[in-house]
Amino acid sequence: MTTEFSLQGRRALITGANKGIGQAIAVGLARAGAHVVAAARTNCDETLARVRAAGGLAEFLQMDLSDPAQGAEILSRAGPLDILVNNAGIIRRADSVDYSEADWDAVMDVNLKAVFMLCQAFARQIFARQANNPDNGTTGRIVNIASLLSYQGGIRVPAYTASKHGVAGLTRILANEWTGRGINVNAVAPGYIATSNTEALRSDEGRNAEILSRIPAGRWGEPEDIAGAVTFLCSPAANYVSGAILNVDGGWLAR
Ligand code: NAP
Repeated sequence: MTTEFSLQGRRALITGANKGIGQAIAVGLARAGAHVVAAARTNCDETLARVRAAGGLAEFLQMDLSDPAQGAEILSRAGPLDILVNNAGIIRRADSVDYSEADWDAVMDVNLKAVFMLCQAFARQIFARQANNPDNGTTGRIVNIASLLSYQGGIRVPAYTASKHGVAGLTRILANEWTGRGINVNAVAPGYIATSNTEALRSDEGRNAEILSRIPAGRWGEPEDIAGAVTFLCSPAANYVSGAILNVDGGWLAR
């Protein structure tokens, strides 16, 4: 791997790394040379095995983001980090007129509040290391996982849409405040990716055909498609990229 895309010597925390997009990101960052901290509610055995099979380094960190206040505590257990990828997310569907406060709070807590708390704890860690050792050039990278619903409205997913619009705004404000202090903050907005999150859509024949007909690439995305974009944003090749939301959607938003 050329040095512009190498993550050698970097330590990366990925939330929701036990499966789906988070697992692929963990494997992708490890393949680029990062030491991966795979954070999840449930065990990450499959992720750790895939990372090790690719010749990479990984460890598991147990965490539950349904209590976003745990952000600082999670970061304190992760060791000195260079990269934070906020991937964990949930979706709950109901007509907006019937949407429950409990569903609203659950989605906003994991998808938005926890993202902010983790970003804040990460930045505090980086700034403290910079203050303690001004000559060692400590820098950081944050990549938040946004969505097409960071731009579009969607249907029957009010909390998810609000949270993902929030992730886009948060990415921009944190980039404004922290890029000059050594932390680049970006987001990746996945299109329709084949994971458990979208299983219901893919198994509905009509809906599946409708979605596929609108994707210029003509196929669902794979979790690995997202991993490549995240790896780029964490790498030296993206040194001057901050505040960006990189759409990885097979062309959906260009339509
Ligand atoms: P997924 O397979 O359902 O994975 C979601 C991950 O989030 C799982 O690891 C899950 O852990 C974790 N998570 C959920 N609640 C959590 C909590 N309270 N504490 C800690 N972790 C929690 O879905 P995915 O498709 O890979 O989604 C990953 C990210 O991509 C999400 O932010 C999602 O919104 C975003 N995204 C996905 C698509 C898509 O088409 N798939 C499109 C746009 C954006 P458990 O296994 O323990 O529940």
